[in-house]
Amino acid sequence: MNLIDAGWDTFFEVHFKPYALDGFSVGRIAVEHKNVYVLFTEYGELRAKVSGKIRYEASNRSDFPVVGDWVVIKPRFAEKYATIHAILTRKSKLSRKTAGIETEEQILAANIDTAFWISSFNKILNIRRIERYLTTVWESGAQPVIILNKLDLCTDSELEETVIEVESAAPGVPVHAVSAKNGHGIENLMPYMQKGNTIVFLGLSGVGKSTLINRLIGEDVQKVSEIRKIDDLGRHTTASRQLIILAGGGLVIDTPGIRELQLWDSKDGFTETFEEIENIAQHCRFSDCRHESEPSCAVKQAVEDGRIDPKRFQNYNKMQKELDHLNTKRNVRSKIVEKKRAKQFARLVKNMKENFKKHKFNKQ
Ligand code: GDP
Ligand code: ZN
Repeated sequence: MNLIDAGWDTFFEVHFKPYALDGFSVGRIAVEHKNVYVLFTEYGELRAKVSGKIRYEASNRSDFPVVGDWVVIKPRFAEKYATIHAILTRKSKLSRKTAGIETEEQILAANIDTAFWISSFNKILNIRRIERYLTTVWESGAQPVIILNKLDLCTDSELEETVIEVESAAPGVPVHAVSAKNGHGIENLMPYMQKGNTIVFLGLSGVGKSTLINRLIGEDVQKVSEIRKIDDLGRHTTASRQLIILAGGGLVIDTPGIRELQLWDSKDGFTETFEEIENIAQHCRFSDCRHESEPSCAVKQAVEDGRIDPKRFQNYNKMQKELDHLNTKRNVRSKIVEKKRAKQFARLVKNMKENFKKHKFNKQ
């Protein structure tokens, strides 16, 4: 495998120099799976684990490799396995801050060159969200690009208005209007698909990310991106590759974490995505109605008499559950962190007391 196709360049070359002399090699993380990774290397795909030293010295999760990382390895060819000895300096990293509490940062992907934010013409434009997206991307070190999808659904005057509004909210950021459905404007995205350029697709559910990815990388990407892996029990299973090398050059990172990012900020995004349902939900008897078996549920009523599309309602429920799940995870985590902090504080106080006693004792 040619490392340049996988995104290798002089930036990483420089950082690899100190290792090159010791017979180390490099690989790029294509799949992150619990403790096992799959790497693109010059010898083809290798599975890998981090060295004991990395594990021992790690103080938080960002000390472990993530999808997109370039890592320093020692391959063991007989076993088709490699040991990861170091992570090369990241050119960029897309991370998620756990909201509300300042726990460790969670890095979702590394070494991204271009971050596409996809929005669609049939959704109300939320300039605040675009600004938030830009902040995240600027912080990551990647180049932001805004894509307005579903061009086929808008009139010329809507197009002009929207583009002007977005461009003024995001000065200097490229804005492209496309239709993933019929291919209009797609040629304007080709410059981002060059050899070695790593892209992520961000945006709310339903804006057309999957359709766009499929159009850009061919319909059979799912098949192409499946790889065989061995699970913890030694069974062979398939897993989706999370870093995909496109036939025409360019790479796409698509991981569950990146797909979740759209939800993260965001009871807000949810409300907007399901605007028509949320509007009706305001007429439910209970303000926290789950639209399950509560009495006087306006949403259930609307599904029954056809004002809400049952499929949309299904999606709504699914997304609501995902969102709840994320919130629960977040709460559990913040509780753990609180406990840890309380413990650390108690220890600190104890040490101080002891020191104080010793001090007094010494003085006497
Ligand atoms: P994702 O959730 O962002 O991955 O969105 P999908 O790719 O699943 O698309 C959501 C819906 O929008 C699907 O029904 C697509 O067929 C539709 N869609 C995607 N792109 C376009 C487009 O350019 N024009 C129109 N009219 N529909 C589109
Ligand atoms: Zn209800």
